[in-house]
Amino acid sequence: MTKYPEWIEEKDGSLWLTEYERENLKISYRLKEIIFSESSPFQHVMIVDTFDFGRALVLDGIVQTTALDGHIYNEMITHVPLCLHPNPKKVLIIGGGDCGAAREAAKYPHIERIDMVEIDELVVKACKAHLPEISGNLSDPRVHFIFDDGLRFVKDRRNEYDVVIVDSSDPIGPAEHLFERGFYEDLHRVLKDDGIMVCQSQSPIFHQNVLRNTASILKELFAFSKTYIATVPTYPGGLWSFTAGSKTYPLDRFPDRITPVETKYFNEEILKSCFSLPTFMKKFLPNG
Ligand code: SAM
Repeated sequence: MTKYPEWIEEKDGSLWLTEYERENLKISYRLKEIIFSESSPFQHVMIVDTFDFGRALVLDGIVQTTALDGHIYNEMITHVPLCLHPNPKKVLIIGGGDCGAAREAAKYPHIERIDMVEIDELVVKACKAHLPEISGNLSDPRVHFIFDDGLRFVKDRRNEYDVVIVDSSDPIGPAEHLFERGFYEDLHRVLKDDGIMVCQSQSPIFHQNVLRNTASILKELFAFSKTYIATVPTYPGGLWSFTAGSKTYPLDRFPDRITPVETKYFNEEILKSCFSLPTFMKKFLPNG
């Protein structure tokens, strides 16, 4: 009998992946096949093919990104800060092992260097080989892969990057410290004097404490901070949040014209409207 990872179950001849969301919520995906399954020193890495979401990256049983809607998340975490900064040249991505954020950033010809600091080389290898819908088999010479802990990488650096994108997994396991105040202080120092950062700040429906805490810290540290949203069906609750901090540029002053790049979700109207928050979010957010 085949031994599957603990999140996979065979039932009536079908394979099911079950993501345990929270105490009273689990989400199951029916799978066509498991394409890749290996453990690294950091986590268990799987690429599966699902019936409804296409191929997906799964880390420790949690779905990270899917072929169906990974572009929504990756375009929003990348193009929003890159369009609000008037002249981004050097970009740091922390996490982002599926390569989707780096792929989006590399669409801008004026960006000179993209450093991608991912703790787990196995995620990058698996996504480049088996998730081309997201990674696009990224091989742009401006993208430099650094396999290290993002927390450690930013410790002794200062004044280096125009834009920092924190594309981390959930605040458990290796990404836990990427949601803490000390890390954001380091990011503030790593940014140039007019730098902008953005992080994924979890679900406004199910993770309000994480989002509120992130928004409070960025409000204290940065001259300008704002939360924006997008709908990503793969993530529990559907609605997802990103929180940006800017040292110099107000985040609600939009450029007259954005550099046109090919996207499936992001556009100028989305840039202008994504900072408009529903009333319930304005109520619990310090920057709402
Ligand atoms: N879009 C996804 C989401 O919101 O669920 C996350 C994308 S990406 C796959 C997250 C990446 O962050 C993973 O590849 C993971 O290995 C990486 N990661 C987690 N902790 C990290 C750390 N401390 N330093 C660098 N990368 C980290």
